[in-house]
Amino acid sequence: MLTRSVLIYLSSQERLKEFATHFKLFKKLTTRFIAGENINEAIAAIRDLNARGCSASFDHLNESVTSPVETEAEVREYLDVLARIDESGIDSNVSIKLTQLGLDISPVLCEELLVRILRRAAELGNFVRIDMEGSAYTERTLELALAMHARYPNCGVVLQSYLYRTAADVERMNQAGVRVRLVKGAYDEPPAIAYPRKADVDDSFRRAMQALLRQGNYPAIATHDEGLISETIAFAAAEGIGSDRFPPQPRKRWSH
Ligand SMILES: Cc1cc2nc3c(=O)[nH]c(=O)nc-3n(C[C@H](O)[C@H](O)[C@H](O)COP(=O)(O)OP(=O)(O)OC[C@H]3O[C@@H](n4cnc5c(N)ncnc54)[C@H](O)[C@@H]3O)c2cc1C
Repeated sequence: MLTRSVLIYLSSQERLKEFATHFKLFKKLTTRFIAGENINEAIAAIRDLNARGCSASFDHLNESVTSPVETEAEVREYLDVLARIDESGIDSNVSIKLTQLGLDISPVLCEELLVRILRRAAELGNFVRIDMEGSAYTERTLELALAMHARYPNCGVVLQSYLYRTAADVERMNQAGVRVRLVKGAYDEPPAIAYPRKADVDDSFRRAMQALLRQGNYPAIATHDEGLISETIAFAAAEGIGSDRFPPQPRKRWSH
């Protein structure tokens, strides 16, 4: 919990972030959470994961984007990442936060920039996951994900089981065929909108996982909770949901 809050805070603090990446002890601690400080380190980490049978999602941590110039830098970073994934042949998609693309500055700008990334990813046969941020962004993120998915099927989104609204959102995304990554949620939310008790967050996760496995489009069940991972595997087996429902995503080139 502490590490989670510290990481979210750090990702929004430029000077602290710089300090942290040069401080050896901190670096050791964050290796568990952060694959690398630059694209080459991240690619090496992903190669290692791929060799162990895991595919990856490439996420450039930066929640402190406050100007259009910075959003442009983020887009360039992601276009570069997509090209490097393609060239290196690693098995990875990308994840992005809408605030990185200027959601706080202008929704129109944010959409334009997201379209650039989605279009390039589609050309390269890759997939873009929109991360979920704090609750102030939930509805705007889902609306944009739905609108984008209608034009770019390679666009998916994240739902957080700590929010009361998530059961309804799972249904909404399943109906639209939007690929969902299910997580517990990483932000501090008030009891008015989120389960305060961990047991309830886990129950909500369990229900959402089941609905996603039954009716969802290629869901990603993202947790370090080994109990819930085992339950997911057992549920899939009991329901006869085999790996053929989730074939490796072909790297085909689409055009838009
Ligand atoms: C692939 C992925 C993508 C995510 N994307 C988002 C997102 O878009 N939006 C969002 O709000 N949150 C996101 N999260 C974070 C998520 O919401 C949780 O905060 C985080 O995963 C911790 O909860 P948990 O599900 O692992 O379960 P917990 O019940 O918190 O933890 C279960 C066990 O895992 C251990 N653990 C916790 N974190 C880690 C870790 N990093 N490495 C190893 N062990 C750990 C705990 O110590 C505990 O023993 C993402 C998480 C993952 C794995």
